[in-house]
Amino acid sequence: MISKKVSVLCCLIGLFCCGCSQTAADVSQGLTTAADEPVTATIFAMDTYMTLTAYGKGAQEAIEQGQTCIETLDAMLSTGLDTSEVSRVNQNGSGILSEDAANILTRALEISAETDGAFNPLMYPIMEAWGFPTQNYRVPDEKELDALLERIDTSQVAFDAQSGAVTFLREGMEMDLGGIAKGYTSAKLMDLFASCGVTSGMVSLGGNVQVLGCKPDGTNWRIALQNPDGSDNYLGVLETSDMAVITSGGYERYFEQDGVTYHHIIDPSTGFPADSGLCSVTIVSADGTLADGLSTALFVMGLEKSIAFWQTHSENFDAIFLTDDDQLYVTASIAEDFVDAYYDVTVIEEG
Ligand code: AMP
Ligand code: MG
Repeated sequence: MISKKVSVLCCLIGLFCCGCSQTAADVSQGLTTAADEPVTATIFAMDTYMTLTAYGKGAQEAIEQGQTCIETLDAMLSTGLDTSEVSRVNQNGSGILSEDAANILTRALEISAETDGAFNPLMYPIMEAWGFPTQNYRVPDEKELDALLERIDTSQVAFDAQSGAVTFLREGMEMDLGGIAKGYTSAKLMDLFASCGVTSGMVSLGGNVQVLGCKPDGTNWRIALQNPDGSDNYLGVLETSDMAVITSGGYERYFEQDGVTYHHIIDPSTGFPADSGLCSVTIVSADGTLADGLSTALFVMGLEKSIAFWQTHSENFDAIFLTDDDQLYVTASIAEDFVDAYYDVTVIEEG
């Protein structure tokens, strides 16, 4: 049983990120806020390590508020915590979501509709059947999964985004916002950093990166994408500013049984781990929430459908795909920004 969470590594060129466990309280006592010195914090939340970095005026406040923001969202959204809002709704089959949880569910249902259900925010009963939440892994049979598919039907959710009132219309339905929560969080952190006056900052939430502005020297951030083979050879480096760079890959969390690998991204049409021929999908978008939702959805959809989807939505995002047989594809708009590629790159052109 293996669990690997870090999918994208931040390339630390010209940037110092603390690797040890450091709280915002430590930061306020220790680090400087001189214009070219970062204030950083590394915390563990949402089952992963998160690194926050901010430069210049307002940086210390941004990091402190950022940590509180992450803790609040984690306590609200965690399915592993019985008292979280999501758990309470899951236990009762209904409830009132607070503003953030309602915002996330609204976006999750939108992305689900746009991707023909490849993204599904009701996956919890199926994740449980596979044992992912408890790490008591097992392989459910087709009959069991077929029965559970009834519980992930998004048309059976009555949701009023204004009031946050949500009701599941079928027995046993449960939310799992794990496919989108980190992207929503990184987007919210960028807004929070900006409201503190920070113009240059970066967060890496378990390898899902979002950057604010450029590096303090005015050059683009360099974000290295992890190679799913686990080696130190990055897939490549994306040079960018003001973007979320969010990766989904089967290699991030999986278990093995009888020589077969079962990963954590489930195809909602079957209940089985998606077997679409893609090994990793990175979405690049100014909208962190969208990037996270789409990274999961496009991983399920596979290369061909993903290309067609990008060609009709190219104003909203870009993407980098690695197939199971190591073919690397990059959408045209970011092709020049993706450098030091480990494999030959095929550029996906506009339709
Ligand atoms: P990500 O790493 O963003 O791709 O999210 C994967 C997580 O999202 C899983 O660990 C599940 O909690 C949840 N999940 C799995 N399959 C799906 C799916 N098809 N749609 C939405 N969420 C999913
Ligand atoms: Mg995702």
